[in-house]
Amino acid sequence: MNLLPSRFRGLFLSLCALASAGGGAAANVDYFADNGYGNPISSLQHPVGEHYQGVTYVAYQGPHEDPYVAAYVHATGKWIGPVQAGVSAMGKSPDQIDPGELDNHGKPALVVDREGYIHLAFGSHGGDPKYGRNPLGEFFMGTKGKMTHVVSVKPGDLSAWRVVDNIPVNGTYNQWVKLANGDLYLFYRHGGHRSDWVYQKSVDSGRTFAAPVSVLKHKVSATSPTVNDSWYAWFDHGRGDTITASYIYHPCANPKHSAHRQNTYYMQLDTQSGQWSNVQGARLALPVTKESADQLTLIEDTGAVRTTHGTTHADSAGRPHLVFPAGKDVRYYRWDGKAWQKPVAVGAVGERMHDGDFFVDSPTNVRMLLAQTTEAGHEIAWWNTTEGGLTWLKGAVFMTSKERSFNLSAIIRNAHPDAVMLLASRSATEPHLYRQMHLVGAHGALVRSAAEASHLGNRLEQIKSLPPPNKDKAEAKRKKKLGLGDDDL
Ligand code: ZN
Repeated sequence: MNLLPSRFRGLFLSLCALASAGGGAAANVDYFADNGYGNPISSLQHPVGEHYQGVTYVAYQGPHEDPYVAAYVHATGKWIGPVQAGVSAMGKSPDQIDPGELDNHGKPALVVDREGYIHLAFGSHGGDPKYGRNPLGEFFMGTKGKMTHVVSVKPGDLSAWRVVDNIPVNGTYNQWVKLANGDLYLFYRHGGHRSDWVYQKSVDSGRTFAAPVSVLKHKVSATSPTVNDSWYAWFDHGRGDTITASYIYHPCANPKHSAHRQNTYYMQLDTQSGQWSNVQGARLALPVTKESADQLTLIEDTGAVRTTHGTTHADSAGRPHLVFPAGKDVRYYRWDGKAWQKPVAVGAVGERMHDGDFFVDSPTNVRMLLAQTTEAGHEIAWWNTTEGGLTWLKGAVFMTSKERSFNLSAIIRNAHPDAVMLLASRSATEPHLYRQMHLVGAHGALVRSAAEASHLGNRLEQIKSLPPPNKDKAEAKRKKKLGLGDDDL
């Protein structure tokens, strides 16, 4: 695997040569841990990490689907962890080797509060019905787990964690937003498909949260009694005191469940006033329904073209730039102050682009990190525009591998240039579900000695006695989920 932009490759090779010339120096690897598990990260559960006072903290799903946290100290190049920071209510023991046995929805999102304590939310796919009624959603298609909030016992210290029992069990797709003043907002879907998207605000660094506020409403569709309005949404800090929300619509149908998602939408919250508005500034009544979303917040009606959630960043004028995967494309959208610019597909024509996030350097200059799979293998490359997104040119290839494919996170919060994104990589030839975890930035992956990056212990031995994945069951699941990704349920 080649993780380095070409201009750094020579430097890296000569450093390795020096190390081995020193005699007995351990080899460095391009991952910091090998115990990512299943689908350890996604852009939806975010941030996966935060750069805070010279240290980048990252979180991912490890063995038993439990949350793990590691830290990289930029001044010294030293790694800390990973350590297990909590227990997921959805984990199975021993670790499974059949991907169909994993839920993968309880991935952790991480935030550092104004005092330096590290918080994670994780562990739920709608909440197990045994915990009681879900006031803001239904137990449609089965829901499980328990949304869990843990906090480090000391600021900036990964060694000890405590559970803070102060959020509902039902949250899925947990997302933290932190404002400049340190106020925390925890956004999530309050249950399974047929649930409201909500947020809870904390002004005391996560000690307490205000009650959930419904932002996007689930309900029986006005067009059909067998369809339920459902949503996938992504929230982040915009400019100043603004929180941005980008989302797509899922016509959740029964009895035969539909996997379709469509359209792209945008709105924003002024956290000073607590008022939500559309991009033109028209006030929105909460919760936003399918009808009001279509009328006031629709960017593009994509019809039969399937969309999935994307990411959003605001420019210096506070105007949103967005990407959504749509069909085979990754589509870029921009509000130019008067209208939505015509959507543009970023990436190579005719090739499937997937997964990515971006930096807005100015209203017209945007840099995007996109994953792409070609016949030659897997790569992540920069794609750049200097024309407000009308045209895009491929920049440096960031990472490439013939054997290993990559999952990307959203951009790390307050990212240090050397650590902008967390990646998980896997080789299809490996007979287990453990993944290598990479923290990557301007110089490619941040390396670590192989011995320090090894965290599997005897897990490979432990799973040897497990029966091989049941092919028939896996195939049945695959058919049932046809067209569905991990974040689709
Ligand atoms: Zn559904």
